[in-house]
Amino acid sequence: MKWQKLNMKIEKPDLYDIHEQLTRLKEEGKKIVGVIAHSIVPDEIIHAADCIPLHFCLGGTEEQMVLGQTYLSQTTCGFQRVNLGIFEGREEISYQIYELMDFVIAGTFCNGVQNTGMYLDNYFDKEQYQFIIPHGSKPNSFEFFHGEIIKLKKYLEKKTNIKISNRKLIESIQLYNELRTVYQEIDKYRQGENPKISLGEIQKLIHHLNLNGPDLNLKKVMEFLDAVKRSELPPKKGVRIFLTGNGILIEDNFVQIVEDSGCIIVGDDLWTGFEFYSSPVNVDFSNPLDALADRYLNRNLSGRMIPDSYRTEKMLEIYKKRNIKGIINNYLKFCDSFSNSADYFKQKMKKKNIPVLNLERDYSQNSIGQIRTRLEAFLEML
Ligand code: SF4
Repeated sequence: MKWQKLNMKIEKPDLYDIHEQLTRLKEEGKKIVGVIAHSIVPDEIIHAADCIPLHFCLGGTEEQMVLGQTYLSQTTCGFQRVNLGIFEGREEISYQIYELMDFVIAGTFCNGVQNTGMYLDNYFDKEQYQFIIPHGSKPNSFEFFHGEIIKLKKYLEKKTNIKISNRKLIESIQLYNELRTVYQEIDKYRQGENPKISLGEIQKLIHHLNLNGPDLNLKKVMEFLDAVKRSELPPKKGVRIFLTGNGILIEDNFVQIVEDSGCIIVGDDLWTGFEFYSSPVNVDFSNPLDALADRYLNRNLSGRMIPDSYRTEKMLEIYKKRNIKGIINNYLKFCDSFSNSADYFKQKMKKKNIPVLNLERDYSQNSIGQIRTRLEAFLEML
């Protein structure tokens, strides 16, 4: 199988196709549940309620960011400004997709998410459910988070008139775990000495998952894995890099810019990449809700957790195993979850002789030249 043919299978999601599929599913009676992404809301519960989890991951342009300022201040991260900018613009296919959402799960991941939920509810007729998320994973935080998951389950049952039985939950957990296993198999093809793939390919698959839900995504990733196994792709060349920080939206070309500058991203912890499949839900728990609380609170890779030792340990483990030469820490301006800790993170890694490039950015076009220059300087130094 030729690379060209394989490449065709992993194009960016076609938004018109996504809109058509979601419209069909909605007509069949399924509810579309918006999730203001970051991989800390258990999608398994949404799926067990026979709904499609639709994660906010569209857009990523300067124009959308500026439109979002109708509601959010310029000192809110670009991601949330883009989300509201898409609603305010009302023209694009991205808006038509988001408009299919029956309601939205927002909450306290950060202030940006909280405010976006509020404006969607007040101005765009998208009822928000506030999912309250603790910042730590001590026993009392776990108890609290577990209680929030129970409340979310009850809310979904009320909205859908569907009882989320343990059996349904276990089936959804098994489906998502199966999906994670296939992603882990795919990930093996970017770890070795001669990687066949890089983050760019994996991210397109994750974007599909975030827009289409797990049932359609499973078929797609299995086909992709099969194609990678059978193909004789030329190994990718470049400096082996770990990418951390904020997830990347569909119209944001940041990963492409990094990979074009002479890097291969052989490891990452982004919610648009590795985080989803980094760890399965442990099926040994006697109750599926306990298992979900454990996975999403104790083993998420978000920079918002205090302390963030689980994330750092995982990062260092991957860094060593995959013979990585440096870390790029990409974060959006005004993203408190990553920007305030960027210097501390860099110093912490310096003590381990790991070079870090802190790249603060937004979606404006005029920052691209500066990003390229800083990437080149970093790679020369490596
Ligand atoms: S975590 Fe950062 S990027 Fe994500 S919504 Fe909050 S402020 Fe924005």
